[in-house]
Amino acid sequence: MNGLSISVSDIAIAQRCPFLLAHKIHLDKKSAWRVGKKSNGAFYGSIFHQHIAKTFFKAASNPKSPLHKKLLMAVEGGRESLSKFILTEIFFPFSKKESKNFKAEQILSIAQASDKLARAVDNFLERNSAVHFALPEGKLQDHYVHQTKNKFEKFQLLISGRYDAFIFNPAKNEARLFEFKGLKKTDLSVPLSQSLIYAWLIWKDTKILPSIEVIYLEEENFSNIFAPGIVKDLIINTLPDLFKAVYDVLTCRRRPMFLKDEELCSVCKFSKTCERNMEELFLT
Ligand code: SF4
Repeated sequence: MNGLSISVSDIAIAQRCPFLLAHKIHLDKKSAWRVGKKSNGAFYGSIFHQHIAKTFFKAASNPKSPLHKKLLMAVEGGRESLSKFILTEIFFPFSKKESKNFKAEQILSIAQASDKLARAVDNFLERNSAVHFALPEGKLQDHYVHQTKNKFEKFQLLISGRYDAFIFNPAKNEARLFEFKGLKKTDLSVPLSQSLIYAWLIWKDTKILPSIEVIYLEEENFSNIFAPGIVKDLIINTLPDLFKAVYDVLTCRRRPMFLKDEELCSVCKFSKTCERNMEELFLT
């Protein structure tokens, strides 16, 4: 059986359109992931993730961190104290150091996103005591083996990636995976794309099926929570076909089966040459 490696972020590109992944991998179009993405430009998701969320989850997961004790006390105090902690201990030092590099509205967006982080974490902690904060951006890796009676259809993929943040409560077998999106909810991409794959990897690794909270950093009504039951249904009903499409793209053995998203095609910079390129690329 052939084994091929792929990252979670590349699989997420294929979920939006397998031909976008083909453009990225085979035609060296590195910006393919950006097609159809919308952001108001005021907020830098990766800056928030790097300087605020990652610092928070690092301090929460590491007892040796100078912020760890204070953070646990803030957690005890509920949402307001958690929000205050994130602002004073993480956001203010960041803005003092970095404010000259950003516009005022970007700094404001990051402050607002910091409060969203506090609300999301507190929401999970309300029902869970003695939780364990996992290290941020933990690496997950496992094989997907496609089982079928037809031996020519069997394949496996080695899938790896780093989740944003993850909290679990081993006593109750509960966990929550957080995905921070610096994009609008109206984005054409499927919001759960990467999170579902991380949830599947965590499930395989720990036997705990997490709930998923997608946090849109640029939205007022910012949070979508998917309970473990829904996550399980989505994993079972969507991932095998997605992995199959990814395998088809990687090997070029045949055109992946999917319904073209005309809205996405209408804003895609590859639309003029897409059909011709794909015809040349795929064997059948
Ligand atoms: S034109 Fe449409 S089908 Fe082709 S890569 Fe773009 S989104 Fe996908």
